[in-house]
Amino acid sequence: MNSSTTKQTPHRIGFVSLGCPKATVDSEHILTQLRAEGYDIVPSYEDADLVVVNTCGFIDAAIEESLEAIGEALDENGKVIVTGCLGAKGDIVKQTHPNVLAVTGPHATDEVMSAIHQYLPAKHDPFIDLVPPQGVRLTPRHYAYLKISEGCNHRCTFCIIPSLRGDLVSRPVNDVLVEAERLAAAGVKELLVVSQDTSAYGVDVKYKTEFYNGMPVKTRMTELCQALSQFGIWVRLHYVYPYPHVNEIIPLMAEGKILPYLDIPFQHASAKILKAMKRPACSENTLQRINQWREICPDITIRSTFIAGFPGETEEDFEQLLNFLDAAQLDRVGCFAYSDVDGAKANELTGAVPEEVKQERVARFMEKQAGISANKLKKNIGKIREIIIDKVGNEQLIGRSSSDAPDIDGLVYVKITNNNNYQVGDIIQVKITDTDEYDMWATK
Ligand code: SF4
Repeated sequence: MNSSTTKQTPHRIGFVSLGCPKATVDSEHILTQLRAEGYDIVPSYEDADLVVVNTCGFIDAAIEESLEAIGEALDENGKVIVTGCLGAKGDIVKQTHPNVLAVTGPHATDEVMSAIHQYLPAKHDPFIDLVPPQGVRLTPRHYAYLKISEGCNHRCTFCIIPSLRGDLVSRPVNDVLVEAERLAAAGVKELLVVSQDTSAYGVDVKYKTEFYNGMPVKTRMTELCQALSQFGIWVRLHYVYPYPHVNEIIPLMAEGKILPYLDIPFQHASAKILKAMKRPACSENTLQRINQWREICPDITIRSTFIAGFPGETEEDFEQLLNFLDAAQLDRVGCFAYSDVDGAKANELTGAVPEEVKQERVARFMEKQAGISANKLKKNIGKIREIIIDKVGNEQLIGRSSSDAPDIDGLVYVKITNNNNYQVGDIIQVKITDTDEYDMWATK
């Protein structure tokens, strides 16, 4: 056999991926590059020649989990490269685990690869182009996260993401569309568009016009959504900051070009607290905009997140938030008790809210929202809804409607009498028979 076609045993890499969907996308890029260069990915510490740990550094619990994961990888394997948000937080990784081989920040595929090359130089393998063209993904085959930018130009006082990930850097729109096209061709049925700030897409490149398949496309959220709609699959937008031009995408939702789903973190409703958070908008404007959106697209699902117990939040501020919930009738809502994050500006603010008050406010908030969500979901009973199937059982399908993003929203449980060759990723119509505050039940 000619030596150039002799297959050598490839180096084996273990991979631990922690953190948010944006970190998952970073992991996918590193895994894709590893496979492209002929490394094998193995599921156990003992089979690996080296382990990469992609960490999260957002809140204290995530830092602890990441540090524990690094410690475990060191104990079980010994050769560990750390990447991700925790890697960008000064010396914390090296101080806690001085034996790690290398530490990089997030979004650092090239740096991680060069550290791997240093400890495990790639072996020649003529079969390396067997990597699937859509890359290696960590999500199930029928949906995929599509990261459109990195970093953020805002400076919300409770957040350290800009100091971890830097200012906004948008991916070229043609790259994003080529990736979406490959994913669709590989069988993905739902794209989850993610970034730190989806509506700012293209600000850093002055909305530059690029070319995709010979057609000009602006690096801008509205134009990106238009272009993504050509693939004929579900497109769901996450982390949309409430800029005025968000109004432009609502007609695309009404026309069925992208899912009528808006994940838009409002964070609070009191003008005083929003100002202290350095967030835009006041609640009256926001209510007006929500009403306009619903007029244009009555089926829109609005998901949002809020923070209770931000420094300086009085009972009156909090009641404004509860009143806003009553008025806005949002569909999907999360609420977090404020907690100091190392390095965040909000730590310097006076008026810390005692822990038990924060927890009590979160509980009151969630109780109010549970009632709103239950009432809103109840309106689905008797209606036909389209769902994407996530799981197929003998007597039941589990899926999600356009109102439900994976992992964070509810599910639709569909009773079936025969299996009818349903496949994960199929989009089918079901009749809703029952609901609670999160989930729906249906028949086929
Ligand atoms: S917009 Fe989001 S990522 Fe940017 S600073 Fe504010 S909270 Fe952080």
